[in-house]
Amino acid sequence: MIRWLWPVMVSGVLAMSPPALSKARGAEASDAGTGQDTASEQALIRRGCDAMAGVLGSVDMNDCLNIGLKPSGAFTVQGRPILVREYPPLAPREPQARVLLVGGIHGDEYSSFSVVFRWLEVLNEHHSGLFHWRVIPGLNLDGLNAGPAERMNANGIDLNRNFPTPNWHENKQEYWVEFTGRDPRRYPGEAPLSEPESQYLFDEIERFKPDAIVALHAPYGILDFDGPKNPPHHLGYLYLNRLGTYPGSLGNFAGVQRKLPVITMELPHAGIMPTREQSSQVWNDLIYWLKRNVQRQERREPEQKSDQVADNSGITPAYLSGDSASCMTCQPESSLRQNCCRRDSESWNLLVVE
Ligand SMILES: [Zn+2]
Repeated sequence: MIRWLWPVMVSGVLAMSPPALSKARGAEASDAGTGQDTASEQALIRRGCDAMAGVLGSVDMNDCLNIGLKPSGAFTVQGRPILVREYPPLAPREPQARVLLVGGIHGDEYSSFSVVFRWLEVLNEHHSGLFHWRVIPGLNLDGLNAGPAERMNANGIDLNRNFPTPNWHENKQEYWVEFTGRDPRRYPGEAPLSEPESQYLFDEIERFKPDAIVALHAPYGILDFDGPKNPPHHLGYLYLNRLGTYPGSLGNFAGVQRKLPVITMELPHAGIMPTREQSSQVWNDLIYWLKRNVQRQERREPEQKSDQVADNSGITPAYLSGDSASCMTCQPESSLRQNCCRRDSESWNLLVVE
């Protein structure tokens, strides 16, 4: 069941002239999930959803409007509001960790936006308070709307090279000029955080203080990882294949410098969606890995070594492929076991659906 994601030209959307809004750098994310949206909030949500659903064939406008996204307070270069969805702690349960999930850092990687919407649906149904989530389905809304979509933002800058990493200016010369031969698709800009989109993501990391970051990309069909040791061997059909770090990349900034696990998923196609089963497998494996490897920062033992965490290499996964509500048991006689449970080395456990 492959769905195509090539841009759907919805009349009016591409003619939308971005208002010349001032940048709202550093604005606090709105208190998502509580209270009524004001009229101005609703207008921003509509514009942010227009910017995604108007281009992405797999994202429905009404679904986007009703999925609980809020204005982040930040805007793209061309004034499109960046939207965010919060899944807060559910008292009395204290979340095990905070996870920041971000899609659409590169505007021409359509599936990296759309898959996040699938996972928003899962969270809307199953958020249990296990993790405190903050989800940004699309960062580079201008690139997505460039017609044709572009990797870079409206200033022609690769946002994933614009984060503040050590020796940024020297490395820019070495990386961009010598390594890429001045590839315009990899242009890191004139200075780190020169762009409102990268500044917003940086601010969000400062405010939210995530314990792990998940970033979606396409089309390399692999899993990349930066940060402490013990990366996942695979998440669903995405297998670990570390691409290395680049100056100014999110993985370098947050993973290498800040020592946060940064899980970079490279979906295999920018313009073709994974099947629902494939995206569910990736999600279930992600939750499984997070649950075993990521804890709230203040709870971590300073001397704890990440390689002391259980090795997951012996896992034989079985994946959720049906109605999760029917997954009630992992008893051997359960006919649903293959769909609802995974086998550790010694026992079957219910898949965590979050
Ligand atoms: Zn990318």
